[in-house]
Amino acid sequence: MMDKKIHNPECGEFSKCVKILNLILDNEATVEQETYVHEHIESCMVCFEQYELEKNIRDLIKTKLANMPVPEGLANQIRSKIQIFPHH
Ligand SMILES: [Zn+2]
Repeated sequence: MMDKKIHNPECGEFSKCVKILNLILDNEATVEQETYVHEHIESCMVCFEQYELEKNIRDLIKTKLANMPVPEGLANQIRSKIQIFPHH
């Protein structure tokens, strides 16, 4: 891949949309940008699917992080600090 820009034959605005929809999912988009993408994905399947995909990836990461056990060392560190788990 020489070209870093994303091109999609089915949507001339694809590159722009991907950029904005990532901002939306990161809660960094302006109202105008959000409106633009929401209106756009209503008529553009490619971007709609991309939006869903990015959203799913983020949900997956969130779920994975939520289910991730706290590293043993860190857990012990916290325990020794707050001392609510007395050692027997
Ligand atoms: Zn599009």
